[in-house]
Amino acid sequence: MNNSDTTSPDYEVIVIGAGVAGIYQIKRLADLGVHATVLEADSGLGGTWYNNRYPGARFDSESYTYGYSFSKELLEEWYWKEAFSGQPENLRYLNHVVDKFDLRQYMQFNCRVDAAHWNEEKTLWRLSVCDGRVLTCRFVIMALGLLSIPTLPRLEGMSDFKGRSFHTFDWPHKPLDLSDKKVGIIGTGATAIQVIGEIADKVGDLTVFQRRPNWCAPLNNYEINDAEMDRIHSRYDDIFEICLRTPGGFEHEPDRRGFFEVPREERVAMWDQLYDEPGFGIWLQNFREIFTDEDANAEFSEYIADRIRKRVTDPETAEKLIPRDHGFGVQRVPLETNYLEAYNQTNVHLVDLSDAPLDRVTETGLRTTDAEYDLDVIIYATGFDAMTGAHDRIDIRGVNGQKLRDKWRDRISTCLGVFIHGYPNLMMPNGPQSGSASTNYPRGIETGVNWCMDFLEHAWAHGHNRIEVTAPEEERWTKHVEQMYEVMLMRKAKSWFTGYNSNVEGHEEGTIRYLVYNGGMPKYRKALNDVADAGYKGFIFSGDHKATVDAASASVA
Ligand code: NAP
Repeated sequence: MNNSDTTSPDYEVIVIGAGVAGIYQIKRLADLGVHATVLEADSGLGGTWYNNRYPGARFDSESYTYGYSFSKELLEEWYWKEAFSGQPENLRYLNHVVDKFDLRQYMQFNCRVDAAHWNEEKTLWRLSVCDGRVLTCRFVIMALGLLSIPTLPRLEGMSDFKGRSFHTFDWPHKPLDLSDKKVGIIGTGATAIQVIGEIADKVGDLTVFQRRPNWCAPLNNYEINDAEMDRIHSRYDDIFEICLRTPGGFEHEPDRRGFFEVPREERVAMWDQLYDEPGFGIWLQNFREIFTDEDANAEFSEYIADRIRKRVTDPETAEKLIPRDHGFGVQRVPLETNYLEAYNQTNVHLVDLSDAPLDRVTETGLRTTDAEYDLDVIIYATGFDAMTGAHDRIDIRGVNGQKLRDKWRDRISTCLGVFIHGYPNLMMPNGPQSGSASTNYPRGIETGVNWCMDFLEHAWAHGHNRIEVTAPEEERWTKHVEQMYEVMLMRKAKSWFTGYNSNVEGHEEGTIRYLVYNGGMPKYRKALNDVADAGYKGFIFSGDHKATVDAASASVA
């Protein structure tokens, strides 16, 4: 029996999630000697890299900018093998980090947290774990993952299918031989684009069911030999310095010249070069107007459309692969390898669902409103209940039992993406409206975790056992996040950046959910630092809280 009914909690801090954020979070807590544990729903660590084992899953951040930056020794000893490393190697890396720093001792696996309830009287959180335990802690840190709740289509007949079917997130851990199989894949997001490029020449027959095409650009991956890795080792200080100052946390710096001040031939020459270079340069090293100016965006999108026409042999298929409802870069840009060329193979077929939507799953495959497709395997590459999905799956109740799910139903509101008014002692190093989602992820979460740790150390040093953001401070940040969307073309796109997911009730097209901070990492870091430098103005600490509560009860009396 644990001591959940006493005021002394089981742990000072419980971290939920042993992914990239949770691993660094527990490292920082362990270094300080804080009594802490990590509860992880999966049977292994690694989060996104534990689960997403589909063929083609790999970084689209340069590997050496994705690794943790906190340990020189770790940086020195790790040799990345590819510029954009694949899932098996990424998972090996995360396990290596955890073993090197002896962090596994703090982790509990197969421990899905079903509920987290704040107890005001005892100033602690009570967490219900799927194994029946109730654990208490003073502070809870949600390191839940941005894209950790896969969503399936809402189609009739899904359980009738006699073949194998699975979401890409749940790709079987055992090798799957598709060589003589008729495979159908639903979706053409970043995940599908990686899968299709990888399996097209390894399956019997591949049918891609596309509702809306997605702009994409070549990854241009390459192997890194030891000599190059040694050069990277010697550059690490510079690399992280650059990542710190760029909006996306990459080495790619935006071109700050005015789009229309640069002659068209020069623009095209620059795009020709970027298209052939590795990584996100074509998106993030481009002119800034791509993100904000309709005309600039349209011109650049047409450039990419021509690239598609050049790479796809059949003109009709090429036109179907060109997005018409949004411009390049206003949704998350998938990076691909052999994706467009896959459509030049005779065993790969594109079904345009905009002509005839999916009607249902049958025992033998998929049916659209005008045809039936026989399949052995159906792959659902249909995306995630992004950012808030993992929070929604936990029954989180704050002050007066308010459910977070209800608070966020009509409007997401946070302070800095880290705190939520009404949920004391709950922190999110990578929460909705933080800088992590729009950033090279580890660069974002290191910032978030470091800031959370500074805040906690401040609270502990001052003997505060309760911290809560005020409503006005939360409103200030939420308004700012909403305003940032106004200047971005992204606000018009149907993507998880705007909270769209056709398969989740209430997240369908029509309303923007402001999930992402779009100001870039340097501005985000400044916002965090400003709050800390002002002595955490806008927060109520335990002593002040008692005074506030006493004053409120006095006035009621
Ligand atoms: P996604 O971008 O949301 O794409 C889901 C796809 O499924 C879309 O094409 C969507 O069509 C389609 N779809 C959903 N429901 C459907 C239905 N009922 N009928 C037909 N089509 C349906 O999801 P994702 O590809 O998994 O990518 C999500 C995010 O994960 C990415 O944006 C990226 O941030 C991250 N990711 C990262 C990496 C990496 O770092 N290397 C790799 C993969 C993914 P509509 O567009 O019409 O809704």
